[in-house]
Amino acid sequence: MEKNVIEDVFGTKVFNDDVMKEYLPKKTYAALKSTIENGEELNAEVANVVAHAMKEWALNNGATHYTHWFQPMTGVTAEKHDSFLSAESDAHAVLEFSGKELVKGEPDASSFPSGGLRATFEARGYTAWDCTSPAFLREDAIGTVLCIPTAFCSYTGEALDKKTPLLRSMEAISKQAVRVLKLLGEDDVSSVSCSVGPEQEYFLIDRDQYLQRDDLIFTGRTLFGSMPPKGQELDDHYFGAIRERQASFMKELNEELWKLGILSKTQHNEVAPAQHEMAPIFDTANIATDHNQLVMETMKKVARRHHLECLLHEKPFAGVNGSGKHNNWSLITNTGKNLLRPGSAPYDNKQFLLFLSAVIAAVDDNAALLRLSASNPGNDHRLGANEAPPAIISIFLGEQLEDIVEQILANGTATHSNKGERMDIGVQTIPPIKKDATDRNRTSPFAFTGNKFEFRMVASSMSVADANTVLNATVADVLQSMADKLEQADDMDKAVDELIHDTLKEHQKIIFNGNGYSDDWIKEAERRGLPNVRTMVDATASLVDEKTVAMFERQHVYTRTELEARAEINYEAYAKAINIEAKTMVKMAAKQYIPSIIGYVTSLAESINSIRSACPAADVSVQTELLTKCSSLLAEAQKALAALREADNKASAMEEGKEQAEFFRDVVFKAMADLRTPIDTLEDMVDKTYWPVPAYGDMLFEV
Ligand code: ADP
Ligand code: MG
Repeated sequence: MEKNVIEDVFGTKVFNDDVMKEYLPKKTYAALKSTIENGEELNAEVANVVAHAMKEWALNNGATHYTHWFQPMTGVTAEKHDSFLSAESDAHAVLEFSGKELVKGEPDASSFPSGGLRATFEARGYTAWDCTSPAFLREDAIGTVLCIPTAFCSYTGEALDKKTPLLRSMEAISKQAVRVLKLLGEDDVSSVSCSVGPEQEYFLIDRDQYLQRDDLIFTGRTLFGSMPPKGQELDDHYFGAIRERQASFMKELNEELWKLGILSKTQHNEVAPAQHEMAPIFDTANIATDHNQLVMETMKKVARRHHLECLLHEKPFAGVNGSGKHNNWSLITNTGKNLLRPGSAPYDNKQFLLFLSAVIAAVDDNAALLRLSASNPGNDHRLGANEAPPAIISIFLGEQLEDIVEQILANGTATHSNKGERMDIGVQTIPPIKKDATDRNRTSPFAFTGNKFEFRMVASSMSVADANTVLNATVADVLQSMADKLEQADDMDKAVDELIHDTLKEHQKIIFNGNGYSDDWIKEAERRGLPNVRTMVDATASLVDEKTVAMFERQHVYTRTELEARAEINYEAYAKAINIEAKTMVKMAAKQYIPSIIGYVTSLAESINSIRSACPAADVSVQTELLTKCSSLLAEAQKALAALREADNKASAMEEGKEQAEFFRDVVFKAMADLRTPIDTLEDMVDKTYWPVPAYGDMLFEV
């Protein structure tokens, strides 16, 4: 029988377990495995042998170069290629790759954001091999490149990237979860890993149209544009049949991802026209994070092969839904047990209830920080705008768990759990189906979905590293204090019951099962004292508050210096993003919209003059009315353009930091809206042949 394409291509470009077995001596394989699985240190000798094997495998597969592939604080990945060519080669080529080159790299790091962590005179930065995330071959126009996932740090050991803190947080949560499990009698568990499944939303539009819009090219989103008569109101795009052009994109995307060992699983059309989603099967947090970066990169690349452009921005089009990334998260022991699986009798599953209450406490104690971990300038357009979760963090547990929580709060422990019932849909030929005990709540930012939590705030274009670093570190911190308490207990059963009860009691205010979009909830949340952080700039403060610094330092995930640097980078990143948007608007208005509108009003004036001279009695009231209205909107646009220029110049001259970011948000951002309004109104009045860029209707529906 012929092999299915998935079996045929899956993992063919990955230095995975099968390849390691084939290329590595048994002893080296065992040593590497124990580093990967048990976190044991990797010695130089093993690294050398692995490097040799990796080189052989890469060369056998046509590679000419290798690169340390890392994730600086820009949020995108970075790489610098080296060929395997060695210095000694003169007459003929000698190909080399040593253990040293595998485990350590030294890119010139001076141009990456460091938030002051690395003075420019000490530009050195090091990349270090993360052997727990498999190396892979990237094949494209450049040839084949061996990519080695690495962490990136400064000369003094500070993390300059998103991977290092994530790896530290994984160690923290493993350590504390194992402590708690041992106290509960789970002696065979030696490590706990955090599993992550990120659902990736994106838009696909025609590349020719994309290339006509400077706003999409420079900022990833449209800064002007009026809504077409039809948007997403019919819900006909959601889960709709996938059209041929998009389907051929998805087919190729899947094959490329499967080759890289990425478990691409679901694909469907999303709510907004031209919007789609892809979700992989979950994996260990650092691998899932690396894979998600590759997913985004591959989407962009494959789209271009189909003359499409993939937009990953959180809000490419005003007026229809934007894109997010649902971050599914759970904890799984090395013995294969999912710690967030409630089992058949959740009321009596003390281990589950303890871990559940730890997550509830962590989210409640760190709501603002969690909000920050999902913040970028683009996501400010979504959170709280009735399409994405609200900016207020709350937890949805579903009916069954909520009932158990209520029992515990009332009586100290729970005595029963509601079962999922059978549902008869009234058709003879369709057998009754079993209902889940939890329904779904689409409006919740943090929802329990059966055997995992789904953090739904994450921005579509962002790395999932930050969100998972915060989740792991904060839950680890709660587990640490739980373990400390339980270690003092005389009667373990009683102590566990009390701990679950007390934790839920203290943190029940974060649980909310209702409609997160309603105005009532905003008021109710305020009454409960839950933070409602509206913008990324506001959220950034939570990174450096004393409570957060102490928590991260306790868990050895970030030092104070690293946090202060990240806050700086955040303010700068925000200011830079808005500055680019403002400048793009100025350029488009000055060079495209205003000249085109002048062309149109001139044609109206000429029409009035020539009609009048040909036939003085003719009615030119339509042209006159249009001319008057368009001219006055044109004047409004010109005034707004001058105001935006001035605001942006003022903002750019300010010193970088919090105040500058706030000025961009409060003044420049507002000036941008003031310019957009008259231009969008004009778009609906001006002859289409005069309009300089493709309209929303063209881009969203003509793909
Ligand atoms: P939905 O849109 O209904 O939420 P999807 O199938 O789009 O469902 O995505 C669910 C995601 O959750 C997938 O990536 C899946 O692999 C992931 N997931 C399932 N179980 C776990 C788990 N235990 N830990 C982390 N992620 C999980
Ligand atoms: Mg989904």
